[in-house]
Amino acid sequence: MKPLNNNIRNFTIISHIDHGKSTLADRFLELTGTVQKHQLKPQYLDQLELERERGITIKMAPVRMRYAHSTRINADTNADLHRYISGNHRNNLRESVQVEDYILNLIDTPGHNDFSYEVSRALKAVEGAVLLVDATQGVQAQTLANFDSAQKAGLKIIGAINKIDIASQEQIENSLQELSRLLNVKTDEILKISAKTGEGVSDLLQTIIEKVPPPKNINSSAALIFSSLYDEHKGVIAFVRVFGGSFKSGDETKLLGANREFKIKEVGFFRPELQKEDKLLPGDIGYIATGIKDPDSVQVGDTIGEKILEGFQRPKPVVFVSLYPEDSNDYDKLKTSLYKLRLNDSSFSITPVNSEVLGRGFQGGFLGKLHFEIVAQRLEQEFNVRVITSFPTVSYKVKLINGNWIEVENPNDFPDNYSKVLEPIAKVTIIAPFKNLGDILKLKESFRFNNITTDIQAEKVIISALMPLAELIADFNDRLKSVSSGYASFSYEIIDYQEADVKRLDIKIAGNLVPGLSRIIPEEKIEKIARQMVEKLKEILPQQQFSQAIQAICGGRVIARETIPALKKDVTGYLYGGDRTRKMKLWQKQKRGKKKLLQMAKGINVPKEIFKDLLK
Ligand code: GDP
Ligand code: MG
Repeated sequence: MKPLNNNIRNFTIISHIDHGKSTLADRFLELTGTVQKHQLKPQYLDQLELERERGITIKMAPVRMRYAHSTRINADTNADLHRYISGNHRNNLRESVQVEDYILNLIDTPGHNDFSYEVSRALKAVEGAVLLVDATQGVQAQTLANFDSAQKAGLKIIGAINKIDIASQEQIENSLQELSRLLNVKTDEILKISAKTGEGVSDLLQTIIEKVPPPKNINSSAALIFSSLYDEHKGVIAFVRVFGGSFKSGDETKLLGANREFKIKEVGFFRPELQKEDKLLPGDIGYIATGIKDPDSVQVGDTIGEKILEGFQRPKPVVFVSLYPEDSNDYDKLKTSLYKLRLNDSSFSITPVNSEVLGRGFQGGFLGKLHFEIVAQRLEQEFNVRVITSFPTVSYKVKLINGNWIEVENPNDFPDNYSKVLEPIAKVTIIAPFKNLGDILKLKESFRFNNITTDIQAEKVIISALMPLAELIADFNDRLKSVSSGYASFSYEIIDYQEADVKRLDIKIAGNLVPGLSRIIPEEKIEKIARQMVEKLKEILPQQQFSQAIQAICGGRVIARETIPALKKDVTGYLYGGDRTRKMKLWQKQKRGKKKLLQMAKGINVPKEIFKDLLK
C-alpha cells in the first residue's frame, strides 16, 4: 500500500569530511532493514570504485528506506495523527503506543569543499538535514559552510555529535558547546551518537521523523532533476524529487528547460540500487529513465512535467587543466566519455582545444584540484581512457598592450607582454586549534594572505583571510595540515579579482617546448620555482644516449638550466665486430629510444607522475 505523503521524510546528512556521514547512513540502512546485514559493507552508499579506493564520498547518494516508527500517544487527543495511520496499525490505537509506517528518503553527501555543488543540490530535494560533528574534532570548516547552505535552503537542521565511542568526555562536551552555539539551540537538543556502534542512532531516526516536516508539494506536475547518470539501454536516467503530479512508465512528458518531449521508459526508487516501480508520486525521491541518448539535453536543475521549478545556480569552474588522450586515436572516445561523465557530474566544463604538439583535446574547468583529480581518475576507471594533463591553473583576466582584455585559462595562451593582469581571490575560512594560530599565520608569506581576521572561540580560532586562488590550489592544504597536525581545516569561495604580478614560465627539453609544463607564476617566486622544476625534471627523466638540456624560460630568457648527461657506453662495443645484424638491431633500439624521448619532450609522453612530483 502506498503510504500517505505525510509519512514521507526527505533528509540529508551533511558534515565536514570524515565526520561519519556514510557510516551513519549504514546504520540507517541496517535499522530500517533496507540492506541485509551480511551485505552491508562499511560506507555502503559509497558505490563508485573510486570512492571505495579513496575512502571518501564524491557523489551524493539517495536511498529510500521504510521504517515502522512507534510513538507514545493519547489516542483521544491525537485525532489529527489518527487520520494518517495506515490500516494495519489502526488497532494499535487502543494502546498508548502507535506504530506508523514511514518512508525515509536519505541523501548522503560528500564533505569536501570541491563537492559543495553536490551538497547544494541535495539540499533542494529535501526538507531536513542532520548536521553531524565528529566529537573528537568539533566544528570544522565544512561544518560551517554546510550549515550555512542548509540554513539558506530553509531546512530543518538536526544537530548530532558522532563518534562518542572514541571521544573523551571533555571532547564530547566541547563539541556539544560548539555545535549548540552554531545552531543556536540548547546542548540537550543535540543528539549524541556513535555511527560505528549504533548507539543513539534510533533516537536520531525518531527525532528526524518528529522534527523534519513532511514534503511540501505543488498542484501541477513537476519533478526536479538533481542528478543523473547514463545507461546504454535506458538512456539518461534522471534522479528526481517529485514536487507535484505523478510519473509512470509510458507517460508522454517534457523536459521544460530543454523544451523536449519524451516518453518515460521507466520509473523507480533507490534501494539504493535502481528498482523499478509503478509510479512516482508527490514527495517521492526516485528516478525517471528518459530513453534520451543525447547526454547534453538532460540537464541537472531542469524540471520534468508542466510547471518549471527553480533550478540550481551553476557553479563557475575555477581550476583549469587541459586533457589530451594518451593515445591520440582515442580523441572521440575521450569526447564521449567526458560528455557521459558530465551527466553524473555536471559541475565541470569542457571546451575543445587544439595543440600543435599534443593534438586535439579538451580544456576542462573544475571546482577545485581534487575535483579535477577525481574526474581524471574516473575517466580511466569507468571509461578506460587515459589522459595526459597540463598543470592546473586558475583563470586570469589579462589586459593586452593594445588595451583589449582577454581571459586566459591555459598557460600557453598567456602573453609575454601585457599591461595588467587580474587573478581570482579566494576568501578562506580556516578553523584550527588555538595553539596552532602562530604557525598558521607564518604561512602568510608563502601563500600571500591578506586582510587577515581572527575570531577566538574557546579552544579554537577561526581565521579568515583573502588569498590568491592560485596559491590555494598549490600545496596549501598539505601545508596547513602539516602545521596543525591535521587539525586545521578550511573552506573557501572566490569573491574577487585582484591585480597580480605574474609571468609565464616555459620548459624546454632537448630544445622542445613541453606545453603541458608551462605555468603562470608570481614574479617573486619565478626563479625559485624554475630552479625546482629543472632539478626535479633532471631527477625524474630517464637518461638517454645523448645529453638533454632542460631549460626554464621566462620572457625569452633562460632562467634556469640543467643537463642530463648522455649514457656513455657504446652499446655495440662488447660485440667484437662480427655480428652485423645484432649491431643493427641495437642501433635500431637506440633510435627508438631517441624517438621516444623526442615524443616525451613534445609532451606526448610526459608521465603523470612528473606533474604530481613537480607540484610538490
Ligand atoms: P564521511 O566522510 O562523513 O562520510 O565519513 P565516513 O562515514 O566515511 O567515516 C570516516 C571514518 O570515521 C571512517 O573510518 C569510519 O569508520 C569512522 N567513523 C565513522 N563514525 C564513527 C564512529 O561513530 N565511531 C568511530 N570510532 N569511528 C567512526
Ligand atoms: Mg561519506
